[in-house]
Amino acid sequence: MNSIVLVVEDEPAIQELVAVNLEHAGHQVLRASSAEEADAMVRDALPDVILLDWMLPGTSGIAYARRLRGAERTRGIPIIMLTARAEERDKIEGLESGADDYLTKPFSPKELLARIKAVLRRRAPEHTDDAVEIDGLRLDPATHRVSGAGREIALGPTEFRMLHFFMTHPERVHSRTQLLDRVWGDHVFVEERTVDVHIRRLRQALEASGHDRLIETVRSSGYRMRAA
Ligand code: CA
Repeated sequence: MNSIVLVVEDEPAIQELVAVNLEHAGHQVLRASSAEEADAMVRDALPDVILLDWMLPGTSGIAYARRLRGAERTRGIPIIMLTARAEERDKIEGLESGADDYLTKPFSPKELLARIKAVLRRRAPEHTDDAVEIDGLRLDPATHRVSGAGREIALGPTEFRMLHFFMTHPERVHSRTQLLDRVWGDHVFVEERTVDVHIRRLRQALEASGHDRLIETVRSSGYRMRAA
């Protein structure tokens, strides 16, 4: 399980310590020293999770968490607040701002990794290794295998990620822009038309077992996976 983790921390030593540990665990790390810097990165591509320091120069971590939660595009990104404060009322304020979890400094790398895994499982199940199954179509991220009606289905890497995202977010309409954000991660140089190309390939691959019918085109909106 490797995810893109955006670390927003203005203390260089802590930023370094967190980044090194996350990279060691196989995550891809983006670093920012302020909310403003973080926001420029988030505009380019959505990270899978944000570690957000409470006390930052300029916009505070709390204010930035509120802003992320208030915007449609960034609403779903898991946020873990980092703070040196341990008081209960601060913790409540942090969670009320929209943070998913809360870590008080100093914390152990092991605890940090466990918390990241937990928020990803809750908010972004496509980033965990849990197998998913819908109507006889089964996808196992751990072995990278997909099978339908008992037979193995070969998929390209993009189709695999796309199917994983659909299967973990069924019955919801996803626009092409959202799919680019969530499946490609960086849509700056990718045209929306590209999504249609990969949808076509995915449907072709699923045809043999009849599961192509699960992926519906929603006119002028995007695509949806049926739950059954
Ligand atoms: Ca700080």
